[in-house]
Amino acid sequence: MTDSIATVTRDVLDRLGVGSALYSGGTLDSFSPVTGERIAQLPQQGPADVTAAIDRAVTAFRAWRTVPAPRRGELVRLLGEELRTSKDDLGRLVSIEAGKSPSEGAGEVQEMIDICDFAVGLSRQLYGLTIATERPGHRMMETWHPLGVVGVISAFNFPVAVWSWNTALALVCGNPVVWKPSEKTPLTALACQAILDRALARFGDAPEALSQVIVGGRETGEALVEDPRVALVSATGSTRMGRQVGPKVAARFGRTILELGGNNAGIVCPSADLDMALRAIAFGAMGTAGQRCTTMRRLFVHDSVYDQLVPGLVKAYASVTVGNPLTTPALVGPLVDRAAHDAMQAALQAAKAAGGTVHGGTRVTDAGPEAAFYVRPALVEMPAQTGPVLEETFAPILYVMCYSDLDDAIAQHNAVGAGLSSSIFTTDLREAETFLSAAGSDCGIANVNIGTSGAEIGGAFGGEKETGGGRESGSDAWKGYMRRATNTINYSRELPLAQGVSFDI
Ligand code: NAD
Repeated sequence: MTDSIATVTRDVLDRLGVGSALYSGGTLDSFSPVTGERIAQLPQQGPADVTAAIDRAVTAFRAWRTVPAPRRGELVRLLGEELRTSKDDLGRLVSIEAGKSPSEGAGEVQEMIDICDFAVGLSRQLYGLTIATERPGHRMMETWHPLGVVGVISAFNFPVAVWSWNTALALVCGNPVVWKPSEKTPLTALACQAILDRALARFGDAPEALSQVIVGGRETGEALVEDPRVALVSATGSTRMGRQVGPKVAARFGRTILELGGNNAGIVCPSADLDMALRAIAFGAMGTAGQRCTTMRRLFVHDSVYDQLVPGLVKAYASVTVGNPLTTPALVGPLVDRAAHDAMQAALQAAKAAGGTVHGGTRVTDAGPEAAFYVRPALVEMPAQTGPVLEETFAPILYVMCYSDLDDAIAQHNAVGAGLSSSIFTTDLREAETFLSAAGSDCGIANVNIGTSGAEIGGAFGGEKETGGGRESGSDAWKGYMRRATNTINYSRELPLAQGVSFDI
């Protein structure tokens, strides 16, 4: 690349239709992890702006909730079309702002397109049940109605997909969205808004302020969380953030979808296809420089195959290409910032102190300038699941442990706070089914012979325990964005009471 990354960013923003007034002259610095360079200075919005945005969203809700759902789906269909047109530029902006490889940046935009397709179909399938009633001449049914303003808070590592998972569903379900993106990735948020604005212009008669972006830090997010007019807060980020957001929304009886940290693990059984397992583990643990919520962070390997698998993994860790994702075909890009690097080094020190043998983990200084943080992914052989292994460190560290009994391995697997994603590698039906059973993995996602990351939008996405319990994306996750009413209609001339109660006056 000959131009500076700031120049490239401006060109991409220009093509995406983001006006320069939105990203220059402000107080929020946006950096690219690829070079550590500052690429924009954005005007920030504070709590008063959040209140004004919610005022507008409430007005939008009154109009949008009465638009027939299939017509609402048409807006999301147009959004999907606009995303297809902008896929290359938006994917590139994701790479610039979050440091992902071009393939992962484009993959994230593809996920947005996929959820739009899903939501368009859903707009004609917001079904309620008809339920048998015990009273003659009555009919009982469920109807699903729009819920209200949806507040979306998102993390830096999926800067655009998380917005789309929420927004595509919220819009077809009849709700406006107010989005507070990560302060580390505001430019991609502005680009999403510009893309949606084009879809809205083609749609024609949507109310104003159906989807708004609020750029700012934690206080801005807090204003969204505390406003009782925000019916649903869908918050993606660390468990620390969820511990703050969850109780605040619960105290005002609001609804939350919490998508928080993961400490995802794999189990490699004696019968596993070890070549396949090695590739799945390498992608799951090192992809996106270990900065996916579903990154594989722990691995339990049966003692009979440990010496066949682990040396191969150590070799893969030593040879994986680390470098600038925009100018080289490197598989591992940068960490998001210095704090992520320091947290990784602290975890590796703690692992050593707990008896771990660390392979890799050092800074790769020739991959980028001083202000960028590239590291060789770390594989750490641990004598036991202790210390840093129990926590999520948002960096490419894979802790590897040996096991001899599957029930034991499953117990260890479940003995951490988070409960997002999990995998077993086996060709033994009994082992696979045990892992998927009620006595198996306690995570929201449990896979066989694939890694922990790379979920498809058709399934409900989310995790248990300290991952927050929320579900987004496919399956029946749409129900989280609607309110359910049970309706009973008496079309007889009598008034029989339920449970045979008599009340004759
Ligand atoms: P983070 O928790 O630092 O920030 C996430 C968002 O929350 C940001 O927009 C931030 O401004 C906002 N925020 C922080 N404190 C807040 C508060 N008190 N009130 C309102 N808003 C607040 O997370 P991050 O570093 O951006 O992202 C990495 C984390 O996100 C990891 O733990 C990762 O596992 C998790 N994550 C989870 C999922 C999932 O689906 N489960 C997906 C992506 C990332």
